[in-house]
Amino acid sequence: MFKKILIANRGEIALRIQRACRELGVKSVVVYSEADRDAKYVKLADEAVCIGPAPSAQSYLSMPAIIATAEVTDAEAIHPGYGFLSENADFAERVERSGFTFIGPTPDNIRTMGDKVSAKQAMIKAGVPCVPGSEGALPDDPKEIVRIARAIGYPVIIKAAGGGGGRGMRVVHTEAALVNAVQMTKAEAAAAFGNPQVYMEKFLEHPRHVEIQVLADGHKNAVWLGERDCSMQRRHQKIIEEAPAPGIPRRLIERVGDRCAAACKKMGYRGAGTFEFLYENGEFYFIEMNTRVQVEHPVTELVTGIDIVQMQIRIAAGEKLPFTQRNITMRGHSIECRINAEDPVKFIPSPGRITMWHPPGGPGVRVDSHAYTNYFVPPNYDSMIGKIIVHGDTREQALARMRIALSETVVEGIQTNIPLHRELMADAKFIEGGTDIHYLEQWMAAHKR
Ligand code: ADP
Repeated sequence: MFKKILIANRGEIALRIQRACRELGVKSVVVYSEADRDAKYVKLADEAVCIGPAPSAQSYLSMPAIIATAEVTDAEAIHPGYGFLSENADFAERVERSGFTFIGPTPDNIRTMGDKVSAKQAMIKAGVPCVPGSEGALPDDPKEIVRIARAIGYPVIIKAAGGGGGRGMRVVHTEAALVNAVQMTKAEAAAAFGNPQVYMEKFLEHPRHVEIQVLADGHKNAVWLGERDCSMQRRHQKIIEEAPAPGIPRRLIERVGDRCAAACKKMGYRGAGTFEFLYENGEFYFIEMNTRVQVEHPVTELVTGIDIVQMQIRIAAGEKLPFTQRNITMRGHSIECRINAEDPVKFIPSPGRITMWHPPGGPGVRVDSHAYTNYFVPPNYDSMIGKIIVHGDTREQALARMRIALSETVVEGIQTNIPLHRELMADAKFIEGGTDIHYLEQWMAAHKR
């Protein structure tokens, strides 16, 4: 096991990784920007180093600053968390070339999965079901493009190979709009991601977002840890996640999960990862793989009892998975609400000083947050200030516990989306379970948001 790990991230995930290190008896170094000087994980850290001013480009995205800090603090490994440099293959490579261990997949794994065209091709090869679409990137010839779309059937979606964060996508309903839409998406993709390649998929009209968590050890062992339903999204941003996904036959999920684990073995995948699928009419369709820990990992931890962040560290240290698929059992139901510093109606970010922070507690309640009374939420980063996660024997019990937790939570001084979560936990359709990815936006329109 490592003696010391550098945490190249901020916010709740920096604290989460720090806790995992402590439990493993590993010292940790946190890096922080000037805007995060007073953050909780900085105050609690074994060692903390300021690496630059508030803008991420000069701090959390600065590879030289992070690697130099690892050098001067004698850290042996770097945990990238999520966002920032976590899915940057060049960073992973530089970390390893500088003599440190990157806590995550190999640079090759990240590169293959970071390009959605090559990711899809790898999945097709591994027998993972994908959305019907073009074989690889679209050609330039407009006639060919029209032919491909006809074969798939409208509506189709044009997606950038290098896209991410819900950007670089365009839905096309008619042939008349097709070629122009492809050209526009290409131009945008070139500007935004430095890669003009786009591909085409059938646009699914009412899918749910269901994803499979995997762990692989680089010794040819891979397991899947159940699924998460993340269909409650606004502008492709998840706000509520749960495990298991309500109403989907177990046997179907087991089949897809086994394929994901098999794909990991085939790819020589190492570390934690998530296969994201759209689920519609009883079928799973792969859309992309995330090669990092995800915001919503706690719901899986609560139903499986497996600490995903500790497993990431142990795998990076060269350990073999301490369990096989047969040892993994899922118990009860877990729900996570992401707490964002934003106006609950207009969704405008609401940074500033928290004058009162009172998190919930009680049976089956977990709060992952770096916030506290008097904490200043900086305007420079993502608006998420924490997550409330509950576990219950049944979905009903989890919902009840989430309602109680939200009712106990007090955050003053800034606005948060807690009122929105309170309403959603009382919504008949959400309570029923199985809402699709458009449900939240439709709900907001109906509630004049
Ligand atoms: P990103 O990397 O930007 O998150 P994804 O490929 O994961 O891109 O897609 C993001 C979201 O876009 C999905 O969660 C879904 O809401 C929508 N989407 C992507 N592909 C399709 C599709 N073929 N049909 C319908 N919706 C899609």
